[in-house]
Amino acid sequence: MEHRDRRSVTQAYRFALDLTSAQQRAVLAHAGAARVAHNWALARVKAVMDQRAAERTYGIGEADLTRTQGWSLPALRRAWNAAKGDVAPWWTGCSKEAFNTGLDALARALKNWSDSRLSKRAGRPVGFPRFKSRRRSTPSVRFTTGAIRVEPDRKHVVLPRLGRLKLHESARKLARRLEAGTARVVSATVRRDGGRWYVSFTCAVERVGRMPARPGATVGVDLGVKYLAVLSTGELQPNPRYLDAAARRLRRLGRHASRRIGPDRRTGRRASKRWERARAQLGRAHARVANLRRDGLHKLTTRLAREYGTIVVEDLNVSGMLRNRRLARHIADAGFAELRRQLAYKTSWNGGRLAVADRWYPSSKTCSGCGAVKTKLALSERTYTCTICGLVLDRDANAARNLAALAVTVAGSGPETRNGRGADRKTPLAVPVAVKRQPGTATAGKTGTVPPQGRTSNHVLTYAT
Ligand SMILES: [Zn+2]
Repeated sequence: MEHRDRRSVTQAYRFALDLTSAQQRAVLAHAGAARVAHNWALARVKAVMDQRAAERTYGIGEADLTRTQGWSLPALRRAWNAAKGDVAPWWTGCSKEAFNTGLDALARALKNWSDSRLSKRAGRPVGFPRFKSRRRSTPSVRFTTGAIRVEPDRKHVVLPRLGRLKLHESARKLARRLEAGTARVVSATVRRDGGRWYVSFTCAVERVGRMPARPGATVGVDLGVKYLAVLSTGELQPNPRYLDAAARRLRRLGRHASRRIGPDRRTGRRASKRWERARAQLGRAHARVANLRRDGLHKLTTRLAREYGTIVVEDLNVSGMLRNRRLARHIADAGFAELRRQLAYKTSWNGGRLAVADRWYPSSKTCSGCGAVKTKLALSERTYTCTICGLVLDRDANAARNLAALAVTVAGSGPETRNGRGADRKTPLAVPVAVKRQPGTATAGKTGTVPPQGRTSNHVLTYAT
């Protein structure tokens, strides 16, 4: 009997909008209100910080310093509500959600900065929030309360203050879920992206648990430069080089823009209307490339997640690789990080698993036939030739087979598996578990060749959530 459980996930639905010019002005006014609140609150936080620092240098005691300005959203909102009559006497013209959008962004930015400084946050250091400029920032406003709904015709949405907005495409997928009661709108954001307006609904969605078509099957996916992905089944997924195809158009539009009179911060020169127009065209061309790329990735990841029970990928150091400028364009183009992100949530929706081999697993240098590990393999060598068993295979196909084999060695197959310590794992979906490769069962390292980085063959396979 098939077990079908329901689980709640956060899912976004994004639709293009057809706004009238009056509606565009209304959205821009709301986005402007968000920016005003953000900049006012940021200035206030800075002023209080500077004031306290100055008072300390005069030797004023901690108790007598100017009172701190809280960084939480409620604290910022209280300060804004007390001041809005003076700062923005026009505030009644905009939904309070507009000001909330700006204050919420600032509260999160301040928290990220503070966490980063206190080493409570992984990743690159986060700088202190900056003021938002009308010219540089993307206009956006988010609604969390009030009348947010999709009209029964599925071609219009209703948002607070902005009223009834026409959609460019049908919202039937979301409407069906809302009508069936399997989705609830948490927030709606209107923003401009690449010269077009979008509304995106963040929803809490009840999804029925599904099973992949082949729950016991494992596929290794090697992300390459020549191909977007090479599967351990031998299938080659061509690179969606939309960026290359559109490169000539992008270059031409870039030349156009560079011949126009752009802004100059040194002299304070404003950009010309023709420069603005050329840049808008360039932006639309980039947005089209991004849309095509996203579409290609979604099709691949959906297909893999629906078919295979276990998908194994490599943990690529994408930010490290992006610093290598020659590879950078290709890697950015293929959107590795996006592929990983999509596979992670789609495998969990489909009842499968995504396993990530650690960064030091020599998937390219290991022979998928006999397990011998080469000490050196130049990136230019596109074919793997084994000197021990004589295997000759495409480099990426060899790596993909090793990744698939790694999942089988460490975890067996099927939804109920044993981890490296012999414990039963019933629901491997939600909890990331590090599984050690058992010495002796490893195929790598058997021949006595030295694994790279001086590491042993205890490679970690992590099940992503
Ligand atoms: Zn071999």
